[in-house]
Amino acid sequence: SLLLSAILSIIVGVLLWRYILHSPSLYENLSKAIDRGEIIPWYQPIVHSNSYGTYGVEVLARWISPSGEVISPENFIPLAEQSGLIIPLTKKLMAQVGKELPEKLEGQLQPFHVGFNFITAHLQEPEFLDECRAFIKKFPPGTIRLTAEILEREPFERVSQLKETLRQLQENHIDIALDDFGTGHSNLNYLSALPIDIIKIDKLFINGLSPDSGSQKIIDYVIEMAKTLNIKVVVEGVETQFQVEYLKKKRVDYFQGYYFSKPVPINKLTLR
Ligand code: C2E
Ligand code: CA
Ligand code: CA
Ligand code: CA
Repeated sequence: SLLLSAILSIIVGVLLWRYILHSPSLYENLSKAIDRGEIIPWYQPIVHSNSYGTYGVEVLARWISPSGEVISPENFIPLAEQSGLIIPLTKKLMAQVGKELPEKLEGQLQPFHVGFNFITAHLQEPEFLDECRAFIKKFPPGTIRLTAEILEREPFERVSQLKETLRQLQENHIDIALDDFGTGHSNLNYLSALPIDIIKIDKLFINGLSPDSGSQKIIDYVIEMAKTLNIKVVVEGVETQFQVEYLKKKRVDYFQGYYFSKPVPINKLTLR
């Protein structure tokens, strides 16, 4: 009977696997959603730490289902990145931002910084610079500056090639931000090997930032190091007055977090 149950569980396993492979998959649903324009840009302001004036925005994807439900990127970005759908998805986001953002920017400090999350394979496509130029042309000349937020997952062997790509982007006035700094994805190795303009300190470190926590030392160290390397610092996930006061004393350059604004669709975006 042990043999029987082993055979049965293999059969069940195979059936289940076939079902997963052949059912209308998340991949197909996502692919259709991209074509139908169901994935839209939301915007989260990034502010100057001294004035709280707007430095720019980060564009964050949201999947709005036909019934109006808002689906978090955590539920579809990983698949999009693994499958390559992230590239057409990001192009759609750029097109939509180019349509709806320009009219919002009258009276803003310029240049206004617009950040997108790119996978490095997208940056390395031959058409990438043309896509960026087409995007920037949607705005009056000189009014915006693009930031490419990258999450470094590249094996270190390929870093020298990436370095070349990033240099070219910088020559074309695109800033490079290393995202989620301090987590497994972005670390000191990459910081010293790649030309980086901005680091975004992950909210993980900020969560621990309460009046009597040890994460203060880590943050102090990262900020000092960034200053030494002439790199700007954005702190993400800023939620409390205490965090703001503390980080201001440490001369962080920019803040992004619920304390200032959650990510919002274009019609809810208010810029100070
Ligand atoms: P991320 O690039 O690190 O983006 C910042 C995330 O932190 C956003 O989550 C934002 O809503 C959240 N956040 C900002 N301030 C606060 C705060 O004060 N408290 C808390 N609890 N959270 C805060 P979101 O929008 O859910 O996006 C999650 C991740 O999905 C992003 O992390 C990014 O890695 C990925 N993602 C989103 N949109 C895109 C996209 O268009 N392309 C790619 N490749 N990845 C994207
Ligand atoms: Ca980001
Ligand atoms: Ca981040
Ligand atoms: Ca993140």
